Amino acid sequence: MKPTRTPPGGGQEPLVRLSGVGRAYGQGEHRVHALRDVGLTVHTGELVAVVGPSGSGKSTLLNLIGTLDRPTSGRIVIDGHDVGRLGDQQLSALRAHRIGFVFQNFHLADNTSALDNVAGGLLYTGVPRRTRRRYAEAALERVGLGHRLHHRPHQLSGGERQRVAIARAVVGNPPLLLADEPTGALDTHSGGAVVDLLRGLNTAGTTVVIITHDTQLAEQLPRRLHMRDGALVTDTGACEPGRAAHEAVT
Ligand code: ADP
Ligand code: MG
Repeated sequence: MKPTRTPPGGGQEPLVRLSGVGRAYGQGEHRVHALRDVGLTVHTGELVAVVGPSGSGKSTLLNLIGTLDRPTSGRIVIDGHDVGRLGDQQLSALRAHRIGFVFQNFHLADNTSALDNVAGGLLYTGVPRRTRRRYAEAALERVGLGHRLHHRPHQLSGGERQRVAIARAVVGNPPLLLADEPTGALDTHSGGAVVDLLRGLNTAGTTVVIITHDTQLAEQLPRRLHMRDGALVTDTGACEPGRAAHEAVT
């Protein structure tokens, strides 16, 4: 049995629910609809790929799911919380406890050790400093970097930096991990290692949403969302967590 987390209330409430979500930028003739009328549910334990051309709204979608941005229309519910009803502080707390982020260019602090970069992932969770470092060490061991605790980002390879970023994203054990082109800056080999790591986290119970340009990678994932011109044009659909894509379409 796969150790999936029980949703709040033990019911069928999805971890992510978007209804009629739009995001526009600018005014008048300069108005750009980065996202239009997106409806989407993601359940606990899923592993989802988001694909589509550059500018199709993938990052906008991920940032909205991750509560880094607010929609101009529609409703977003994350882990039972209606994001539109939360104040900035409540939103930060939701993000700190429930959501991990990974970005293409790692977003690590330069002059800071791997250990302190990862410990920084717990800064807004109320965990005391010493405990943060202990958890950070465990998270770095989990991503295979127990021997790189005191290295700084410039002393690490790209693949290792991304693994540090993943450790930082999951150090607080959030139910939801969002990755925006996590392999985009990596060679095939280290990209593969990063994907394996994300799959391992998913198998252990974390719900994972990955934006990728890599069609081969996307094809391996059980569910794919296709974006075009700000719209969600195809959703291959939720399937039982852990099932491979080729099983899902039979
Ligand atoms: P993708 O991640 O698929 O490449 P994005 O979500 O980054 O696409 O962008 C979708 C559209 O929204 C693009 O046309 C982009 O130029 C526009 N956009 C994104 N962010 C902003 C912003 N802060 N201000 C204005 N336009 C933006
Ligand atoms: Mg993007």
